[in-house]
Amino acid sequence: MKILKHSAEVGQWCEAYRKASLGLGFVPTLGGLHEGHLSLVRQARLECDRVLVSIYLNPSQFDSAADLEEYPADLEADLEACRQAGVDIVFLGEQAEFLPEGFQSRVFVEKLTESLCGAGRPGHFRGVCTVVTQLLHVVRPLRAYFGLKDFQQAKIISRMVADLFFDVELRLLPTVRSDDGLAISSRNRRLSTAERKEAVAIGEALQEAGELLAGGETRVAALKEQMTGVLEKAAGCRVEYVEVLAASSLEEFPGGEVSVSAEGVLLAVAAWFGEVRLIDNILFSPVSEVNEVNLETQGGS
Ligand code: AMP
Repeated sequence: MKILKHSAEVGQWCEAYRKASLGLGFVPTLGGLHEGHLSLVRQARLECDRVLVSIYLNPSQFDSAADLEEYPADLEADLEACRQAGVDIVFLGEQAEFLPEGFQSRVFVEKLTESLCGAGRPGHFRGVCTVVTQLLHVVRPLRAYFGLKDFQQAKIISRMVADLFFDVELRLLPTVRSDDGLAISSRNRRLSTAERKEAVAIGEALQEAGELLAGGETRVAALKEQMTGVLEKAAGCRVEYVEVLAASSLEEFPGGEVSVSAEGVLLAVAAWFGEVRLIDNILFSPVSEVNEVNLETQGGS
């Protein structure tokens, strides 16, 4: 496994793969690797000849210095996980290259960034889109892998890839959860034992609202109330948002009535347990029932 720090060197290796007709799969991460990340790596391993994982804790997508500071990082463990998963190249991004002095260019997606995490974390998605653009330009992979755990991010990147003619096939993969339903996240490591127990309420809230929806409830207010009720029972939980949105546009349903259209209904939660902010979602679609499905991607098949 090659561990590379400079984009020029990464670019050369990726170019050599392309010349040799080796399909490259790319998994961008912030580090703190866990089963969620590894599910993307394994899928890339199955579908591609070579796999590149980037580890870059991008400061421009953090809106709080404390959150960045506290972000769990264990480079040795990450490299070992990559080795075990059969990764070919790990690209350790450095701020000096990605955000050099004098840097002035940003990539910004409009409407999709307005709701959910975009509303409460100004500049977050601009930071994500800018760094994903930089990474895609260096790596130029055949396929890039993202998780639906970050549904809004996946939608925004799909939009960006389609709008700006990126030559990449996006693969959006389902959320990996612990046995008790908590979506796996690097941030879970910062939860105390007691907070970790209470945090299962997020998965439960989504599941219960999903069942209500599947049972025919179409009033957005009733679905939100169900989610809020479950979350408020969890000790120490502060709800940032509970949302029920059209999955295709991430906009509210007119008249507060869900219409289950082809791409479905997104149920989404952001909640704090102590100092830790967790997000999760489920997609309800008429085709897949209460489930996460691999969305049709706009940047490729
Ligand atoms: P991050 O390091 O948090 O930026 O995540 C890197 C990639 O892994 C993103 O595409 C995430 O959506 C994805 N990811 C994170 N957690 C999970 C999970 N529990 N299941 C599936 N994908 C995930």
